[in-house]
Amino acid sequence: MSLRENRRGGMRIALIAHDDEKPEMIAFANEHEEILAEHDLIATGTTGGRLNDETDLEVTPLESGPLGGDLMIGSAVANDACDAVFFFRDPMTAQPHEPDITALLRICDVRDVPLATNRSSATALLCGLDAAVE
Ligand code: PGA
Repeated sequence: MSLRENRRGGMRIALIAHDDEKPEMIAFANEHEEILAEHDLIATGTTGGRLNDETDLEVTPLESGPLGGDLMIGSAVANDACDAVFFFRDPMTAQPHEPDITALLRICDVRDVPLATNRSSATALLCGLDAAVE
């Protein structure tokens, strides 16, 4: 199934968290479950699996980040099939797939897709998006 065929209405939001940031992403998702549940959620593999297991949200997991998941989300952004990206990055640890991450950040800027890279900016972005769709 292509990303676009999977679209259910609302916005499509991508969720990504590096390993040290996954607990923060779970906490963020639980805190904002009501808003997030109104949207089509995609995520990199491990992040998506944990969100499915540890929250009541339904998330479509793509490949794991190091195996191409960030590029899959970047592709969705390039295809106009992703409306916002919440990417909780670990600023302390070098990632083996740093080039893929850079590509995702770049395509968000190219396509003017909002991207939050920590919990505070994610909260501000989600509240802004929620106000915009009301
Ligand atoms: P993961 O990927 O959710 O599969 O761990 C995240 C990342 O490292 O980009």
